Amino acid sequence: MADISVFSAQNSPAKLLKLLLIVALFFSITILGLSSYAITAIYSKQVLQDTETNAIKTSLSVLALEKDNFLHPDADGNEQLQIYPEDFQALDAKMRALFAPLDIVKIKIFSTQGEVLYSTDHSIIGKKDKENLRLKAALAGGTDSKLKSKDEFTDLQGEKRFAVDVVESYVPIHNSLGMIVGAFEIYQDITASNSRSHQGAMNLLISLALILVVAFGLSFLVVKIAAKELTKIQHKLHDMATLDSLTGLYNRAMILEALEHESIPEQRAVEEATHSTFSLVMIDIDHFKSVNDVYGHLVGDRVIVKVANSISKALRDGDRIGRYGGEEFLLLLPATDLNGACSLAERIRQRVEETLIEIDQHELSITISLGVATSNATESTYKSVLQRADDALYAAKQEGRNRVNYREFEQQAFQFDAEQ
Ligand code: GH3
Ligand code: MG
Ligand code: MG
Repeated sequence: MADISVFSAQNSPAKLLKLLLIVALFFSITILGLSSYAITAIYSKQVLQDTETNAIKTSLSVLALEKDNFLHPDADGNEQLQIYPEDFQALDAKMRALFAPLDIVKIKIFSTQGEVLYSTDHSIIGKKDKENLRLKAALAGGTDSKLKSKDEFTDLQGEKRFAVDVVESYVPIHNSLGMIVGAFEIYQDITASNSRSHQGAMNLLISLALILVVAFGLSFLVVKIAAKELTKIQHKLHDMATLDSLTGLYNRAMILEALEHESIPEQRAVEEATHSTFSLVMIDIDHFKSVNDVYGHLVGDRVIVKVANSISKALRDGDRIGRYGGEEFLLLLPATDLNGACSLAERIRQRVEETLIEIDQHELSITISLGVATSNATESTYKSVLQRADDALYAAKQEGRNRVNYREFEQQAFQFDAEQ
């Protein structure tokens, strides 16, 4: 049947919870993704900067320590970078001893012409690297560092290292007058510190993920509890808006809404196609005023509930019943013709008549009058059907009560004979 829109499943707290879960997942993934990118970028930049600073310090230390082996005055008295063959072996041994503990795995010393004057890799000494832009930048006074991952690298002890992260730094060499006389290229193995940084970044991300899980988990829990309460209130409000508090049947508004839904054009089209129609039965308790007068209102209420239960038990699946007024009930019987509706109405009449209600140690017999009407394909609204059922009920009262009357489309009401 048609439901009241504010209670539709679209607005259900369960659906809102699902939405919250999707939003939480989306934001968690986004936050973790962006953070992992940012943290990795910051760490990488920091590692590169630290290594470059190390390379500058190392080159300054080497120069200070080995100034006499590297710098020799030229004809004009200016110190120039030069390594004499007789100094080479001793210098090479010193370089290796100096760099090995610093995780420096290779070093090159370039002249201002880009020629390799010295390298821990002897095979490249004397070669020129003039087109190297990074070398050119260093010879112009700049410093440049780059991280490179190498599958294999031979260190100063001649041992192979695998899967290493190496930072290559170019640093200018100045003489005591501040003139650039060459450049260092220092290769530093940062695999260990890089993996420590990655581990640090990973730990940070795991902590962040845990915080997000706890934060969203707690919010989810709070919202779930609130949603549960909301659902309870929603159901209560739904019942209050749709059900009659005394009998638990549909209230007047709801049975009319069901009737309206039954008579909308699409529904009627379905009924016409299946040659079915709907019927209404209007029911009113006979002489109910005197029940109230003799036994009081509370007993009157009990009688209303008892009659409502008796009627409900006689109904089939799909039939609807509502408390239409004080002691009046309206039945909506979908896909039921006049004959079927009258038979059902008569069964209900008999059932109520036979149901004895115990009051103050004696039993009270209650009767009802019933008016039946059936929809007609030419009718555009349910109101005329309702009016005919009401007219038929009035006729049943007029003709002596405790009976079923029906009123056909545009015909006078007459009494339904149960024996027919
Ligand atoms: P009739 O056979 O013509 O129907 O006579 P009646 O006395 O039943 O007359 P009517 O249907 O007009 O009476 C309705 C009475 O039902 C009037 C009102 O006091 C009583 N009533 C309406 N609602 C309630 C209710 O919720 N509880 C009780 N106890 N009485 C109600
Ligand atoms: Mg009445
Ligand atoms: Mg009555």
